[in-house]
Amino acid sequence: MAYYVNRTVKLTFWEKIYLPEIIRGMIITSRHFFINLFGFIPFLVGKKKERKIFTVYYPEEMVDYPIAYRGRPVLAVNEKGNFNCVACGLCEAACPAYCIDITPGCNSGKQNELERFPDKFSIDYAICIFCGNCEEACPEEAIFMSNDCEISMLDRRKMKYDKEQLATPISELKDRVEFVRNMNAKWNFKN
Ligand code: SF4
Ligand code: SF4
Repeated sequence: MAYYVNRTVKLTFWEKIYLPEIIRGMIITSRHFFINLFGFIPFLVGKKKERKIFTVYYPEEMVDYPIAYRGRPVLAVNEKGNFNCVACGLCEAACPAYCIDITPGCNSGKQNELERFPDKFSIDYAICIFCGNCEEACPEEAIFMSNDCEISMLDRRKMKYDKEQLATPISELKDRVEFVRNMNAKWNFKN
């Protein structure tokens, strides 16, 4: 289920005068603070099976990221085992960080061969800003923002992923594909 920002919201009088909303925000923050401070006690003494707490013990516990989350961009591999990418270079041109590098491959002219494909395709995650422009620019549903953000490493040179490292089966991306289709339909065809 995708979430959209409602930009047509009309503020009430109390929201416009600002102070009650600040107080409401502080109450919510304080409530979370005290639940986090004491919420683990029933769990520790065995009274509850789950901690009533908002923080997560990473990496033992993981967060379920919303579908709109932008983790590292990956390349979709379709059911036939081919990349959807046709090496058009639009994502490369749209990337504000200049971290995508594509070399188109040459078709040898044999029948049933892919007409256009990337011979080399790399993304340097050390400079990627996870903006999602590449995903937005792609006309072939070939590059998608995944929910993977665990790419920290000690050597920045290893953060440049090649085509094989970027390859992700489309079946693993189907929720994101649906989300992007809905998002594009909304932007392109609704007032
Ligand atoms: S997410 Fe943004 S910065 Fe990263 S590769 Fe895509 S366009 Fe470039
Ligand atoms: S990922 Fe999409 S935009 Fe980028 S080169 Fe391939 S087909 Fe073109």
